[in-house]
Parts: sequence; structure tokens; C-alpha cells
Amino acid sequence: MDSVDCVVAGAGVIGLAVARELARQGMDTVIVEIADAIGTETSSRNSEVIHAGIYYPTGSLKAKLCVEGRAKLYAYAEQHNIGHKRCGKLIVATLPEQVATLEGIAAKAKACGVDDLVMLSGAQARAMEPSLSCVAAVLSPSTGIIDSHGLMLALLGEAEDGGGFLSLNTEIVSGRIEGGRFMLRTRDRISGNDYEIAARHFVNAAGLGANAIASKLDGLDPSCVPKLQLARGNYFSVTGKPAFSRLIYPVPEPGGLGVHLTLDLNGGMRFGPDVEWIETKDYCVDPRRADHFHGEIRKYWPGIADASLSPAYCGIRPKLSGPAEPAGDFVIQGAETHGIDNLVNLFGIESPGLTSSLAIAELVAQRLRRTYV
Ligand SMILES: Cc1cc2nc3c(=O)[nH]c(=O)nc-3n(C[C@H](O)[C@H](O)[C@H](O)COP(=O)(O)OP(=O)(O)OC[C@H]3O[C@@H](n4cnc5c(N)ncnc54)[C@H](O)[C@@H]3O)c2cc1C
Repeated sequence: MDSVDCVVAGAGVIGLAVARELARQGMDTVIVEIADAIGTETSSRNSEVIHAGIYYPTGSLKAKLCVEGRAKLYAYAEQHNIGHKRCGKLIVATLPEQVATLEGIAAKAKACGVDDLVMLSGAQARAMEPSLSCVAAVLSPSTGIIDSHGLMLALLGEAEDGGGFLSLNTEIVSGRIEGGRFMLRTRDRISGNDYEIAARHFVNAAGLGANAIASKLDGLDPSCVPKLQLARGNYFSVTGKPAFSRLIYPVPEPGGLGVHLTLDLNGGMRFGPDVEWIETKDYCVDPRRADHFHGEIRKYWPGIADASLSPAYCGIRPKLSGPAEPAGDFVIQGAETHGIDNLVNLFGIESPGLTSSLAIAELVAQRLRRTYV
């Protein structure tokens, strides 16, 4: 049986950022990943936006970690030559009655430390983006985009340089706590054989799988494991010359940010994600949703050609609240909640998890450090 300082479940952007942080602090860390490669789930099924931190409730972890994480991420991308662009974004009101919502968004963002937003008239916004139709807009100059795969590769490289080890095709099946150590049962997905790893610390960063792992951890009070709800976000792409140079967002809708336009680093345009509540994990995009997308996009881009949208991909938000409930916060759960030293569970790491990844990793390391021997 292998014995290590720390096991991190999940090689998405969060698990990799945590492993890098712990390796930097001299911890002997193994990242255990069920898939045959890093970042094949939510971390590669998102908009790759570096969010400014505009929409989140004041005092929430999302607000704090997004603002901190954004600054860290830009600096990290610069240092490690990871593709990124501070392209900026416009949140647009397409109806006069939405202007008050825009003003509310700007005021809330300011209270969360986002102090660079600029209110624009419709004419000012159109001068920046001639294809746009709107009556007013908010410009967020510090919003950007990043190559999420480049980021994850850099994080893995640093984790490995610090002595970390990645175990692919390995599922964490269950665990128990014995003599102050986590005895984790893992299954090799190729041979089907089970192995046990002993770890003094355990970080559960398994994204959509985190709630299931926690519920199979003998010794963890089941009431500490929130119910997982799944909200798929579908994307459609448009080929041809980019019509915009900034990201364009409508005012937010319940459960998501509305059908917005994001750009990839080559200027390619994709629209989404929308919000589709689902029961089981399924990454199929229904092409019939294009009609709804067309209707939403046309409100701010009247020039979109008919039948120009193609299904692209989708991601699934690990939600902790349902359709009719207010959006939940990140849950980064340490001994202060569940009473178990050296265990951190991460639940509900939806957007802005990519932006917040480096700040989340520091917080996880702090929570573990409180119980370092
Ligand atoms: C549609 C959508 C758009 C988004 N857009 C943005 C954005 O523009 N900007 C932003 O900041 N954030 C965005 N996010 C949020 C961001 O993508 C996530 O917060 C982030 O990727 C979560 O990373 P993770 O490592 O927690 O999860 P994941 O990337 O899902 O990684 C978890 C890993 O755990 C593994 N795993 C699961 N179960 C087990 C097990 N039993 N044993 C071993 N391994 C296991 C999985 O295979 C997976 O690789 C978006 C999310 C969605 C869904």
C-alpha cells in the first residue's frame, strides 16, 4: 500500500491548482484522476473567460475568490506564457427597462471590489462594437479570455516539478479514516484492480464527482454532503469573420448569465452557455435549441444570419441549488465544518471557478495548514 502526504481527487483546474500549491509548500502529493487525461470534464467545457467578479453577492466566496483569482491568473498567465487576452466585455441592455438592472450590476460589482466598470450609452457602445444593438451598456475592461488547457498544463508541470505525481485512469471509489489517515480505495480503470492509498491529507476536488466521493467517505457526517444538481450549459458556434472584438453579455437570467458571446483566442465566436436543468450527466447538445439561441442573440446582434448556428459543445454546472432557488456559493469545506482534520471538500465549484482557481488553491492550502503537524 502506498502512503503519501496528500491525495487530491480530480485533475481539473482546481485539483491541479491545489496540487501545485501543495507541492510548492513541500507536500508529497498524488493527483488521482478517473479519466485518461487531465481536464476532460468541466475545466475543458466552459467559456474560458477570466471574469472580473461582477455578479456575485457581496461577501460571498465567489465574489472574493474571483477578484483575487483574476489578478493572480493574469500574473500567472504572463509569467508562464499562457495564451490570454484582456479583451474586455460589454453587458448590454437591449430594452430601456433593463438599464436599471445594469446600474444595479455596476453598483454591486463596486461593492465587491470591481471598480473599473464604465457605464456607456447605446451610441458609445456601438462606437466600440458597430454590429451591436443596445440602449446602454456596462464596459468591464478587466474581463478577458485564457487558454484553459495551457493553464492546466502549466499547473501540472509545476506540481510535478515540486514532486507531485499524477495517476490517470484511477477512480477513487471509497474511503475511511483510520489512525488519523485517509485510507482511499482506488480502482484502476484499465485492469479493474483495486488498490488502497493512505494519505495524511485529502482534498476532494472531483467536480461533478465530489459529492459522490464525499458520501462514500466513511466517518464524514452525511449531513455535510450537499445535494448535487446539474445545469447543462450548451454552446453554439458561428463561422465566418468575427463581428465583435469584445465579449458581449445580455443582462443575466436565472441560473446563468444569459446567451452571451465569447471569443476564443483566434477571434472565433461561440454563443452560450444557456441553462438546461438535467437529471444525469450527458454531454449531448440538442441542435433544436438553436432556435432559442437565435432569438436571444438577435436582441443584441440583429445582423446574425439565419440558420448560421452549429451545435458546439456543452458543460455541466455542479449546482448546489435548484432552478427556483437563489444561486449557491462555492463550498470549501474544512475541519471547521465537518470536524475532520486534514480533509477539504470542494462542492459547487461552478463559474467563476476557472478564474478563481489559484485563489481557491491558496484557500485550500490555508485550511489544511491549520492542521499540519
Ligand atoms: C458551461 C460552463 C461555463 C463556464 N465558464 C466559465 C468561465 O468562463 N470562467 C470561469 O471562471 N469559470 C467558468 N466555469 C466554471 C469552471 O469551468 C469550473 O469552475 C472549473 O472548471 C471546475 O474545475 P474542477 O477542477 O472543480 O472540476 P472538473 O474540471 O470537472 O475536474 C474534476 C475532475 O475530477 C475527476 N473525477 C470525478 N470523479 C472522480 C473520482 N471518483 N475519482 C477520480 N477522479 C474523479 C473528473 O474526471 C474531473 O477530471 C464554467 C462552467 C460551466 C459548466
